[in-house]
Amino acid sequence: MTTQILIVEDEPAIRDLIAVNLRYAGFVPLQAADASAARKQIDAALPDLVLLDWMLPDESGVDVARRLRGESRTRELPIIMLTARSTEADKLQGFDVGIDDYIVKPFSPRELLARVRALLRRAAPGASDMPVEIAGLRLEPETYRVSAGDQPIKLGPTEFRLLHYMMKHPDRVLSRSKLLDSVWGDHVFIEERTVDVHIRRLRLALQPTGHARLIETVRGGGYRFLPE
Ligand code: CA
Repeated sequence: MTTQILIVEDEPAIRDLIAVNLRYAGFVPLQAADASAARKQIDAALPDLVLLDWMLPDESGVDVARRLRGESRTRELPIIMLTARSTEADKLQGFDVGIDDYIVKPFSPRELLARVRALLRRAAPGASDMPVEIAGLRLEPETYRVSAGDQPIKLGPTEFRLLHYMMKHPDRVLSRSKLLDSVWGDHVFIEERTVDVHIRRLRLALQPTGHARLIETVRGGGYRFLPE
């Protein structure tokens, strides 16, 4: 099986460096120098993962990511953002549009490959299975749907995975590092605080139907999904 990774980066030197490293690790790198070239490539064939530069000449990487998340065909396409910025606000803006991970430039090839592998592992199909339902909240992994009765609930990809994991492990105290391990796959490069950000979003999404109460904060422990 070949794993195709699309590199969207306008600086040829960085693009080539990434391509060389990906190829050396057994992946098939594809290259695009701007957003419109990336779009053409993605329209022609869906890659397995996209490495997306934040600053592109024709459009920002955030806008590209937002559009990919907005279309059903590309909604679950794994995206890692490459960014020279490292402020918290920028990171959160990236997570807001549903990117899966980000790497701050300059990065080492080793870090890049670790993140690519971790994300591919998490995104692998077959990792999830049967629908789960707790207290009227229903999650269907195959169709990527969450609902309460006939009311659909919209979640970002990370919140979806987080909810899925918690619903599969109800009534247990799940520490932040446990959640990072299980939901993010590789927590070496992600701060534990990230978990809180996504829990907050998840609660907000579950509030209208009264299901936010199912996520309990365990002081000094982490989180627990109530069984009913
Ligand atoms: Ca750039």
